Amino acid sequence: MQRRDFLAAGMGAAAFAAANRPAQAGDPSFMNNVPDPLLAGDELPTFKFALEKSEGKVIGGSSGKEATVKQLPISKGIAGVSMRLEPGAMRELHWHATAAEWAFVLEGRVRTTVIDPAGGAETDDFDPGDVWYFPRGHGHMLECLGDDPCHFILIFDNGYFSEFGTFSISDWIGHTPKALLAKNFGLPESAFDGFPKDEVYFARGARPPAAMAKPLQGWKPPALSHRYELLKRPPHRTFKGGREWRVDSTAFPISKTVTGVVLDLEPGGLRELHWHPTADEWQYVVDGDISVTLFGSHGRYRIETLAKGDVGYIPQGYGHSIENVGSKPCRVLIGFNTGVYETIDLSQWIAGNPADVLATNFGKPAELFEKFPHRDVFIAPSGETAGGE
Ligand code: MN
Ligand code: MN
Repeated sequence: MQRRDFLAAGMGAAAFAAANRPAQAGDPSFMNNVPDPLLAGDELPTFKFALEKSEGKVIGGSSGKEATVKQLPISKGIAGVSMRLEPGAMRELHWHATAAEWAFVLEGRVRTTVIDPAGGAETDDFDPGDVWYFPRGHGHMLECLGDDPCHFILIFDNGYFSEFGTFSISDWIGHTPKALLAKNFGLPESAFDGFPKDEVYFARGARPPAAMAKPLQGWKPPALSHRYELLKRPPHRTFKGGREWRVDSTAFPISKTVTGVVLDLEPGGLRELHWHPTADEWQYVVDGDISVTLFGSHGRYRIETLAKGDVGYIPQGYGHSIENVGSKPCRVLIGFNTGVYETIDLSQWIAGNPADVLATNFGKPAELFEKFPHRDVFIAPSGETAGGE
């Protein structure tokens, strides 16, 4: 768009400037003020990606499958990875220059280390149902603990996190001159003979000791823990049609940019029509079959059916719902790129208005709206009657 067109359209010079530099996640102008071309068409683009059916990166018995903007173009605000590590395998020491990392353990056990800018270092062990969060740029590693493989889902608060954004220690050291390394560490150059030349990514070695070993600098714990036991706690909310566990920065203070949810729905259960004013939503189907609806304004509506291992994505502010359309209970892992969870549910919005407003809006008698729920539904059960807690 030419500058004069922007000005003619009532957009100021600042908006013009914002539209003409590369958009960045976390930038208030990104996907808020300036329309995203992908979401500006007559039809909504697909918001589903079959993550577990993708090939990903495989080394030995370990694998990492990605859903970034490359695989799922709509997912600009959040990327995800499904990672499996075999016993003795490690996702090597690395950091993400462009994203924080949030994780949920599905199977097996995981040990992590992480360093922060104050020199605080933490080693943590994780069981299924536990969560970790590493702020953007903090160096960390992940390794399989014990004799069984592990499987976890990683969520990043930037759909572009992968490309040129992940920095591995072997890649860096392998490309740095030995003389510089020798000076850096006060060691002879020969100390660096035989180091990997290229990124190792998945390192393979002895299984880690059962007890955490002391870091070289000794124990120096950070102010805030990186670990949160999500499923060891009772659900955040329980309904006839399902239940929800939720963790954001109010309970897990280090998690300043990600909220995580585990949503269980009974067959026919519905996470009702709603939207999130401040965040995109990334979905991973842990088990079951769900139907996700997406409302994109101007008559644009799209429905996708997601099965176990599929990923869905809801842009910030878009109306949506999740329904269990299978014959058994389903579980969906959901990540939001905000540290403070917010939702507006359609039933509550309606309940927040007087009947005469609703009557005029829809051209229907006010008595009809008296029958609507007078409070938030959140999860509706199978059947016709709106359920309660
Ligand atoms: Mn990482
Ligand atoms: Mn939602």
